[in-house]
Formats: sequence, structure tokens, C-alpha cells
Amino acid sequence: MSQRPIYLDCHATTPMDKRVLEAMLPYFTEHFGNPSSINHLYGWEAEAAVKKARETIANAINCSPEEIIFTSGATEANNLAIKGVAEAYFSQGQHIITVESEHRAVLDPCKYLEILGFEITYLPVQKDGLIDLELLEKSIRNETILVSVMTANNEIGVLQPLQAIGEICQKKDVLFHSDAAQAIGKIPLDVKEMNINLLSLTAHKVYGPKGIGALYIRRRDPRVNIAPQLHGGGQEKEIRSGTLYTPQIVGFGKAIELSLEELETENKRQTELRDRLQKQLLSLEGVHLNGHPTQRLAGNINVSIEGVDGAALLLALQGNVALSSGSACTSTTTKPSHVLKALGHSDKLAYSSLRFGLGRFTTCQEIDIISKLIIDTVKSLRQTIINH
Ligand SMILES: *Cc1c(COP(=O)(O)O)cnc(C)c1O
Repeated sequence: MSQRPIYLDCHATTPMDKRVLEAMLPYFTEHFGNPSSINHLYGWEAEAAVKKARETIANAINCSPEEIIFTSGATEANNLAIKGVAEAYFSQGQHIITVESEHRAVLDPCKYLEILGFEITYLPVQKDGLIDLELLEKSIRNETILVSVMTANNEIGVLQPLQAIGEICQKKDVLFHSDAAQAIGKIPLDVKEMNINLLSLTAHKVYGPKGIGALYIRRRDPRVNIAPQLHGGGQEKEIRSGTLYTPQIVGFGKAIELSLEELETENKRQTELRDRLQKQLLSLEGVHLNGHPTQRLAGNINVSIEGVDGAALLLALQGNVALSSGSACTSTTTKPSHVLKALGHSDKLAYSSLRFGLGRFTTCQEIDIISKLIIDTVKSLRQTIINH
């Protein structure tokens, strides 16, 4: 039997940790109760499990448990944050600031609000992928109600200066939302210290199950109002109706617990592996690193490779290594990555990019196999072009 490709696409999703699966299993069968059933043991068991997970997640970002609202993932959390604030603060202003390199789960709700009459400022990024803080401050107006800047970018791994952004937003009395889908469990996050008012989370990028996430909504200093986007049974303080998905919530909690326990050792290990791979890749002529060289997720490398077509390269590699050129969500389209375009790249260079996402289960041996494979493939593809 042929071997399965080595998985290096951890920004798209991660395999679930077996310890997470183990924690979840009893909640599908024996402990299947509805956490909202208050009259019997089945409900109490489920409620206790949800409570524990909620506390773990709250502790991870330094908020209180009642500030965590479970959602189906970061897409829903972003929609709830952006549309929920827009609706609730409509009478105070209709201007929102975000960034060109955000995930589509932020950009598209913003585009939707534009149709409804809101005005959106899409801040450009600098060559290294970071926003210009002065420009952010200058862009805030009296009628600005929200600033949404992601924590870690899903293509180039760049970490935005959240604390500085939070200070600006606090000074200007504007709400600050951040999409932390790629950051939770990978870098320390503290919503108090960073002055964050809304934070989107998801489980499946940190070895948890798919289909579960959360939105942190600050309840004091200031108390943030959110207009619900799903109406129904009134779960989650009337903000997000629908029966809580207990097994997924338990898995989310376990995934966060494990990733925090291992955060420092994993960051160190992954940084070493990444630097090893990066050194090899950059030793090839005409290979450029995209994004900030150091202010970036430990498991991320994004490179543009001159003189090869990204699609041809991926095709040549796909039997051996699972990689993508841009984000998984946009890889069904043939447009060049909007993130790389935001860095100022030409379409051509944006097309010839590869994104590596290393993770908890990536080994040094795999990195060495991949380095050699990519270098050989790039050389041979370049050779073919020359020979034609
Ligand atoms: C994956 C991702 C999302 C979407 O999260 P889901 O939980 O899959 O909905 C949103 N934002 C960023 C930055 C992501 O990486």
C-alpha cells in the first residue's frame, strides 16, 4: 500500500488529538443529556461538562466563564461579533475598520454590512504583513463603532500587535474585536491586558473537533452589547440559541487544556523545525519568505518561488506532501491570494507561493524528507521551463 502524504497544512485544520477524542466519547452515548435540562441527572452531567470546558477556555484568555458564548466555529463567532455589534451600535455610528489581509470570515460580513449602508475602512498592511498603528489611529472617527484586526494570519502567520491596537481602541473609545482562530493555544492571549472586547476562537486548528468555537464578549469595562444572529431557545444568555453540542464543547476544552500545557515546549520544538525547513527552502535561488521574519506563528512558513507555477508545483508534490498555496477556504477559487496581494506582490509571485503549516505531530524526519523533495521538484520544474 502506498504511503499517505505527509501533512503540512495545519493552518487549514489539524488532526484531532486522541486524548481529545477520549474525553469526548462518553458524551455521545452515556452522558448524552441536554445541558439545558435542569430536572434530571442527564442534564446535570452535560451541564457540568460544559461548565468545566467553559472555565478552561475562559482561563486560557483571562476572562470569566459567563463571557464565553459557544458557536459553531470562528466563522460564526466573527459573524456574530461584527454583525452583532453593527446591529447593536447602529445608532452610535456606522463605520467599521478592518484590514485587507483578514480571513474571509471577517471580510465578507463587512462586505455584507456595506450593502446595508455601513462604511468599512480596509487598512492596508506593510510589506511584512503588519498594520501601521498610526494609520489605524488616524482612521478612527467619531462614528467608528468597531475595529477588527486578526491575531495571527492564516496564510503568512504574522502576529499583529494586539496590545498596542487595544490601547489605541481604548483611548479612542472604540470596540476591539480580534479573530484568534489561528492563535488560541499557540500564543499566550489575555483579553484584559490586551484590551480586547471580542475574541473569536475555534477548536479545530488546535487539535480539537471541527464545528465548535466561541466568541468572548466582554461584560464589564465596557459591557459589550451584541444583537443575536440566531434566535430560538435562548441558550447562551439569549445571544446564541441552539442546543449546546456537549461532546464538541468537551473536546474544545480538552484541546485548549492540552495546548496550553504544551505551549512553550511545542513553540520551541516547532520553531526549530520551521527554521530548519526555512533555511533549506531559502537556500534555493529566487525563494522569498512572505510576512514578518520573526513576529509570526511558530509553525508557519509562506514562501514565493520565482520561476515556477504554484499549481504545477503543488500537483507535482501532492502525492507526497499535503500543502496548499493560499488558504483552504479560498483554494477553490483561482484568484491569487488576497493576503499576498496585500503585501504588494504581483499576481505572478502570489500564484507561485507555498504555505507550510507545521504542527504537534510534525517530525524532524518529515521535515528533512520534505526539504529534499521540494528542492528537487523546484529544480526540475525550473529545468523543464528552461528546456521549453
Ligand atoms: C480557520 C479560520 C477561520 C474559520 O474558522 P472555522 O472554525 O473553520 O469557522 C476564521 N479565521 C481564521 C483566521 C481562520 O484561520
